[in-house]
Amino acid sequence: METATRQRVVVVGGGTSGWMTAAALAKLLPDRCDVHLIESEAIGIIGVGEATLPHIRAFNERLGIVEADFMATTRATFKLGIEFRDWGRIGDSYIHPFGTFGRGTGDVQFHHYYTRLLHAGIELPPIEAFSMACTLARTNRFAQPSTDARQIASTFGYAYQFDAVAFAPYLRRFAEALGARRSEGRIVDVGRDGGSGDVNAVVLEDGRRIEGDLFVDCSGFAALLIGKALGEPFQDWSRWLPADRAVALPCRTETAVTPFTSAVAMPSGWRWRIPLQHRTGNGYVFASGFVSEEAGADALTAVVEGTPLATPRVLKFTAGRRERAWAHNVVAIGLAGGFLEPLESTSLYLVQQAITALVELFPERRASSVDRDEFNRIVNMEYDRVRDFLILHYHATERDDSEFWNYVRTMPIPDSLAEKMELFRRRGRIVKYREGAFLDASWVSVYLGQRVMPAGYDPRAAGPSVDSLVAGMEQMQAEIRTAVGAMPDHRSYLAEYCPMPVAA
Ligand SMILES: Cc1cc2nc3c(=O)[nH]c(=O)nc-3n(C[C@H](O)[C@H](O)[C@H](O)COP(=O)(O)OP(=O)(O)OC[C@H]3O[C@@H](n4cnc5c(N)ncnc54)[C@H](O)[C@@H]3O)c2cc1C
Repeated sequence: METATRQRVVVVGGGTSGWMTAAALAKLLPDRCDVHLIESEAIGIIGVGEATLPHIRAFNERLGIVEADFMATTRATFKLGIEFRDWGRIGDSYIHPFGTFGRGTGDVQFHHYYTRLLHAGIELPPIEAFSMACTLARTNRFAQPSTDARQIASTFGYAYQFDAVAFAPYLRRFAEALGARRSEGRIVDVGRDGGSGDVNAVVLEDGRRIEGDLFVDCSGFAALLIGKALGEPFQDWSRWLPADRAVALPCRTETAVTPFTSAVAMPSGWRWRIPLQHRTGNGYVFASGFVSEEAGADALTAVVEGTPLATPRVLKFTAGRRERAWAHNVVAIGLAGGFLEPLESTSLYLVQQAITALVELFPERRASSVDRDEFNRIVNMEYDRVRDFLILHYHATERDDSEFWNYVRTMPIPDSLAEKMELFRRRGRIVKYREGAFLDASWVSVYLGQRVMPAGYDPRAAGPSVDSLVAGMEQMQAEIRTAVGAMPDHRSYLAEYCPMPVAA
């Protein structure tokens, strides 16, 4: 076995992905590497990215971040899921919850019993009535989940909605305290080894040359190393995810501070609403082939639910990912590696998964091709699964009121998604993953929320009598209502637990 040598890691870029990477490496591999981050204040960061998935809590915990302190500093609110409005049909609304529907009942999932009763002609409320997370969200309440698995209040999780420009500086303080170095400056050139083709240095505008063994490209859409220097191909997925613009417009909070993000379908895309402690984030994600930037900005301005705090800002992107996020000695993390629109708040999750894989496969000396291949397999699998889940939202619609919805409703979809949808349509089966961003309840919420009804159900759900199932479901709803009724409203919980600094 080769002896491990200390690696000089150069992180290019100081946005959320750069500082998440620097903080994680400094904390988790203190004996294996020295971290040097380079960023340019003149270029700045993208400054959006406010809604997250529950996995981020594990990232913060691993780093030893104190939740209440982090939430106060980033003016964060709690997030129990995402509300989708007008997706299946105009007027529809459902919540994709962070948590389960019903309670675990052995091998057969709750939605099989639920669909069995529907097939038997029993009138039931929407499936979200059997979810703690959805019921809390609908009533604007929040308290931390119970740690006692027997309690119904243990059947949900949560994530955060936070100020995107506050998280990176927060992590910077953390990473620097652990010994990470930072250099300010614009990178104008990249040095490569004549033999191996590896990157060996980046050169700053003022002539400084910063050398390293491993380079993490967190330079955002610029993709300075993975794209510009190495020319790693980008897989363009815009035929399935045609949205390529977003217009962002923060506003004063003049309506509820909801413990959930909203994704409201629009004529040529959808808009987000993300309430923070000090303001509400809004944005319209749309396909420029169907609506102009100006019309997109006007459409958003017309519907934001508070006084605008800025002028609309347009961002451009293409859905897709690099063929390999790790090529030579360059690992691309964040926007440099790929982008999927924020419909399910997955970007920071993908950053986190890439960092976790990098920590686990961190090179002893020179990176071996098997480690690189394994890293790329993990990252690509995560991207591909998220892609399919996002496409489902567009494709499983009955909307025919605009060119955009006609396109996404009728477009050919990836085989991997077509197979998943067919499995569900036949008898409610969800493709099994042991891990990943979206497990069974996530898929069930979107299928049923967008009117994809299974023709059958798991035959094992035929065991109990209809009466006993109905009685069980009534009892569960009552239990959920009681547990939710005992919890405070979201705003009061925030004020008690993590109030933002007064100056903010
Ligand atoms: C419209 C939109 C909405 C989004 N919403 C969400 C969301 O709700 N949830 C979520 O998880 N994600 C969301 N994202 C994604 C999220 O914003 C990013 O994943 C996240 O901010 C990480 O970005 P980054 O650090 O990779 O890039 P950036 O923030 O762009 O950082 C790039 C860094 O590289 C530096 N840099 C670039 N070029 C040079 C150079 N030549 N020399 C030196 N430094 C350089 C920059 O200065 C900067 O520090 C959204 C993205 C978009 C476009």
